[in-house]
Amino acid sequence: MQKFRKLTLTAVLVLVHAAASFGTSFESSAERPDQPLRWRSKVVPIAISSSLLRPAPNVRSGTDIEAALRRSLKTWEEVSGIEFRVTYTDRQSVSAQTSGDGISLVTIAATAENVLLFSKNALEVAATTRVYYDGRGRITEADVVLNPYQQFSSDGTFGSFDLESTLTHEIGHVLGLDHSPMRGSVMYDNFAKNGLFGIQGFLHRTLSEMDRAAVRVKYGQTDAGSDCCGSIATRLTYPEGKPAAGVDVWAEEAETGRVAAQGITSAEGVFEFSGLKDGEYSIYSARKERSKRSIPAQHLGNVVVGSGESGLLAKKLESGPAQADMKLTGLNGQLTYNSIPINSGKSYTIYVGGANLSGDDVSISFSSPLLFVLPGSVTEHDYGEGLSVLSFEVAAAPDTPIGEYSIFIDVPGAGRAAVVGGVAVREFINPYSNLVFAERNP
Ligand SMILES: [Zn+2]
Repeated sequence: MQKFRKLTLTAVLVLVHAAASFGTSFESSAERPDQPLRWRSKVVPIAISSSLLRPAPNVRSGTDIEAALRRSLKTWEEVSGIEFRVTYTDRQSVSAQTSGDGISLVTIAATAENVLLFSKNALEVAATTRVYYDGRGRITEADVVLNPYQQFSSDGTFGSFDLESTLTHEIGHVLGLDHSPMRGSVMYDNFAKNGLFGIQGFLHRTLSEMDRAAVRVKYGQTDAGSDCCGSIATRLTYPEGKPAAGVDVWAEEAETGRVAAQGITSAEGVFEFSGLKDGEYSIYSARKERSKRSIPAQHLGNVVVGSGESGLLAKKLESGPAQADMKLTGLNGQLTYNSIPINSGKSYTIYVGGANLSGDDVSISFSSPLLFVLPGSVTEHDYGEGLSVLSFEVAAAPDTPIGEYSIFIDVPGAGRAAVVGGVAVREFINPYSNLVFAERNP
């Protein structure tokens, strides 16, 4: 592929709000049960509507929709032990809201029933999945509807949604998964069209470690033998001793720095990371502003877990300045809440934005030993309106595994903040690299 070179660094950034999102409704005659939703059997039927097999006005001509669907099914099959049994049907419409028909349909037909699903948000939502389940949380049916008002493609056509990424997300819902708080996850609820950052929207074709952990918890792991699953319970208290509720916590593989899971502590200050592979994990908490005291982002400790084991990490949070608030990540002049896809073995100029990030001796770093911020590359940009924007150059080692990595910032006097999974290493090419490392073994 022809490599493009970025010729100018722009100080004018465009803030791209939620590029699009997904809708999901969980339908049942009973109240949603406490236990998580899952299929009773590991064989899940999927019926392909004939609407996917003929040219659709909102799908780029020549696109093989069925092939994209089958790739997305395979992506989940490989990590879940689920087998999708695919059939074909002339049915076009999602089942009624009140009762399913027992057929899990994937459709793109612009029928009245399907269009109704997008009546409130036709311009924002790529697709929606309606899940039916019984009082014991067993899924009985899940219908996926691609938004008839959105454009789709499989070749990265700018301005359209990537079919495989969209379907991979929706199939996650079919399996009973909820949204993930981690940007970069397939199950993250904010989803970019092709062309965000000037690159293809293939980020969500690839499951994050967090997506894998979520499906392992539901269905167990059958592909890779016995290394599943461990868990780590994190119990946090504030400096004065009260339970630290509502704190964002995440776990990273200690060796690579790759994000393994993320969640928010309960009213008791507890969050349990589950579905973890054997290994050592570094546990972190995010900044939290409170009325009395502020808590900066911090490393809570490391825990080793083995198969079937549950580790415990009880920790009193340390208070400190926490005015530095980093939320946005960007590339090529666009700042978003999405993860920035980069390639291993290359370096990129990445932007971060938020509040109170500027000042002398600001330091940006990665917890991963495989990602390096180039010395002297941190640059402040005048964006105005109270938004604080910096750029820096990051280099990823050639052997950096596919996955998501967290960006940390230390602002003297304003504390430490982090964007969990702000950078995602992917195989598809992000052509906006600044240099290419020499391969180790040419
Ligand atoms: Zn969704």
